[in-house]
Amino acid sequence: MQHLTLNNGVDMPVLGFGVFQIPAEQTEQAVTDALAAGYRLLDTAAAYGNEEAVGHAIKNSGIPRRDLFVTTKLWIQDAPAETNTRRAFETSLTKLGLDYVDLYLMHQPYGDVYGQWRAMEAVSREGLAKAIGVANFYPDRLLDLILNNEITPAVNQIETHPFFQRTADQELMRRHGVQPQSWGGFAEGKNNLFTNPVLSDIGNAHGKSVAQVVLRWLIQRDIVTIPKSVNPDRMAQNIDVFDFTLTDDQMATIATLDTRTTLFFDHHDPAMVDWLAKRRLDG
Ligand code: NAP
Repeated sequence: MQHLTLNNGVDMPVLGFGVFQIPAEQTEQAVTDALAAGYRLLDTAAAYGNEEAVGHAIKNSGIPRRDLFVTTKLWIQDAPAETNTRRAFETSLTKLGLDYVDLYLMHQPYGDVYGQWRAMEAVSREGLAKAIGVANFYPDRLLDLILNNEITPAVNQIETHPFFQRTADQELMRRHGVQPQSWGGFAEGKNNLFTNPVLSDIGNAHGKSVAQVVLRWLIQRDIVTIPKSVNPDRMAQNIDVFDFTLTDDQMATIATLDTRTTLFFDHHDPAMVDWLAKRRLDG
């Protein structure tokens, strides 16, 4: 596995395993299979409702803690944000059965973002999160957060796939030392990604699947990726992307697929802000 170094010196695998939309009762098996396939970065969130199952799989794997990179995420908190963020972090840690996480992300750029971030900075200073970062921050909000706080996020996890490539976002992050991480790298299969003719042709040239081409394309753009699958054959396929290289021409061809539009949530849409703001987690 290839690794990179975050802006605070923490080492991070370039490819990991995401568990969004895996029902809690299937998650322990999926993570156990992913660890057996060689994944060492696990990406969960309080909002996914499966942190406990991820924790069980980690515990039962026998893999030394230092060899794993575990990410979880803070959901939007009610005021007072600093107290509630601390409590939410401790709940996540307890559910995971860990005494630290490698990366703690603010899941959405909403609510008392600055109060939440200050509490995350405290967690980071205490070493309870080896790195802290954000998710779903567009360049304007990300820059404002960077300019008005002590700790620059180590990571910004954003929707990034061949149909929404985020090149301007990536350039801003590069300038400020924020590592981009792709969520929905396969666009969850939207737009018939897995049978896209451009990606299929490139895959055929390398004897690789469309999924492998997409992951390789992200890695060659220096973007960390966390594909999700509940299928062990696909898990094995998705981690087998380190034995080929896309040419400059192939990278340029994939660049033409960019529609510069989200296929999921528009974080600038008031209806989306309203929907997310009303969502609260139990416990
Ligand atoms: P994704 O990884 O783009 O796509 C997952 C879908 O692709 C599943 O339906 C999976 O089906 C299928 N798949 C996986 N490998 C395949 C292969 N080799 N061939 C064909 N189909 C394949 O979607 P995602 O889960 O939304 O994103 C990845 C991770 O990003 C999440 O799990 C989560 O950790 C994170 N995420 C974060 C946010 C955020 O707001 N920060 C939002 C969304 C996601 P099977 O499972 O049946 O194989």
